[in-house]
Amino acid sequence: TSIKNITVVGTGVIGNGWITRFLANDYTVTAYDPDPNTEEKTRKAVERAWPWMKKMGLAVGAPEDHLFFETDLEKSLKEADFVQENVPEREELKRKVIADIDRYTKEETIIASSTSGILPSSLQADCKNHPERVMVAHPFNPVYLMPLVELVGGDKTDKFYIEKAKMFYDNIMMKPLVIRQEIEGHIADRLMEAIWREALHIVNDGAASTEEVDASIIYGPGLRWALMGPFMTLHMGGGKEGMRHLLEQFGPALKLPWTKLEAPELTEELAEKVITGCEAQTDGVEMERLEDRRDQFLIELQQLLEKYWP
Ligand code: NAD
Repeated sequence: TSIKNITVVGTGVIGNGWITRFLANDYTVTAYDPDPNTEEKTRKAVERAWPWMKKMGLAVGAPEDHLFFETDLEKSLKEADFVQENVPEREELKRKVIADIDRYTKEETIIASSTSGILPSSLQADCKNHPERVMVAHPFNPVYLMPLVELVGGDKTDKFYIEKAKMFYDNIMMKPLVIRQEIEGHIADRLMEAIWREALHIVNDGAASTEEVDASIIYGPGLRWALMGPFMTLHMGGGKEGMRHLLEQFGPALKLPWTKLEAPELTEELAEKVITGCEAQTDGVEMERLEDRRDQFLIELQQLLEKYWP
């Protein structure tokens, strides 16, 4: 593609993850964030993740050579061929920032938002110049290792730019999934929200601790989902006839749980229970060490995935 210079707007957890991935794939990155400590935080985050990028066979050079910081939004966008927006998840703020990015960029520069839940038609609504190159490109934490990125266009998005973005993310070793319609939470977050809701529900009822809920996924469905996702997992649970038999056998029984599922109220008591549960599970291990463990595991898991799902 013709993309060389990328500007990352908003450098928190997700922005820094993108910066790491872009640098490891040899792009020149300009970072913009109003937080005065942004440079130090970003450099630290890239440094921590860099060895993992090397393990992935990327990150040949030193990250510092291609990373620049700019404290003026307009200047940060001057050379941009691609913009990844990662400001806090507030609709008004995002609409304003994206309208500014639209004003300050070249007309063919792709503007991709990392939003977890805001619809692209809303994000592009205030763009006066070229809303057709605005889209959602929703990643997963840690962005430098997780392959999925969900691409969704709004009413005004031109498919040409979605295709171009798809090629770009393919080139940086991701698995872009183009979503057919704008739906709240895209696909993966919508599924995760359903699990998250039930996990809270179970802890709220006192039926299990946070650790027991985690164990039920780690040693159970999580292992199978990592290879095949929910549909193929169930297809194989139906014997020779697969999903046909499974639906005949269990379809009617699903009505009962569906009528019972409802959202728990996130009371202070429940929040406290979940927070102390998670803190006890980490057993005093620092967050950075937990991140190292997660990253190592994700790399090995992806190597396995390539072996079994070539
Ligand atoms: P964060 O709070 O870690 O970072 C947000 C950053 O934006 C901060 O560094 C802040 O200083 C900066 N910022 C604030 N106002 C700004 C402005 N006007 N211009 C530029 N930068 C500004 O948040 P995050 O978790 O990195 O989330 C960012 C986006 O990514 C959100 O839209 C979120 O929905 C999405 N996302 C988050 C996750 C996740 O797991 N955290 C996963 C996928 C997508």
